[in-house]
Amino acid sequence: MSLEKIKAGIRDVPDFPHPGIMFKDLTTVFKNGNDLQEIASMLYDKYKETGLTKIVGIESRGFITGPILAEKLGVGFVPVRKKGKLPADTIEESYSKEYGVDIIQIHKDALNADDVVLLHDDLLATGGTMKAAYNLVKKFGVKTVYVNCLVELDFLKGRDTLEEANEVYSLIHF
Ligand code: 5GP
Repeated sequence: MSLEKIKAGIRDVPDFPHPGIMFKDLTTVFKNGNDLQEIASMLYDKYKETGLTKIVGIESRGFITGPILAEKLGVGFVPVRKKGKLPADTIEESYSKEYGVDIIQIHKDALNADDVVLLHDDLLATGGTMKAAYNLVKKFGVKTVYVNCLVELDFLKGRDTLEEANEVYSLIHF
């Protein structure tokens, strides 16, 4: 089965970005055209009937597969970025990381209350990043928010922080 093949192609990088962390590196998957096509078509089948209007991708690896899926579905793509990177007026949300606090931002005019949003990133770990992005999207009054990651580290229970989302779905689980 091809998801198993894609899973086996993810590279483990020890001690990145900090000693003791085993980083799941998806660039080994992204450089394979067949794998990228496979991921795009599985996500397309999953979301084609949901009435999505926007994919909101999280910097930076959510900018790789997010726009590919947006193009396939014929919906818009909206970036969520680290503080200071977006050029126009923004709203922001802060969240705690292992080493301090991070702030993410979205353009003030990026969404409206009628949008049906898919939040997308490469990997769900503790859920801190995704929950902050979820909070940002909810500030627009958006009612329906799906969450998707390519990979989920089940043992970190990140999805427990996202119980208010309409659905949390990951292609690959470790
Ligand atoms: P969380 O906030 O859920 O703890 O961490 C998820 C965020 O950190 C995502 O934006 C993800 O890209 C990044 N991240 C954390 N650990 C890993 C990892 O092992 N591999 C990859 N590719 N990204 C990671």
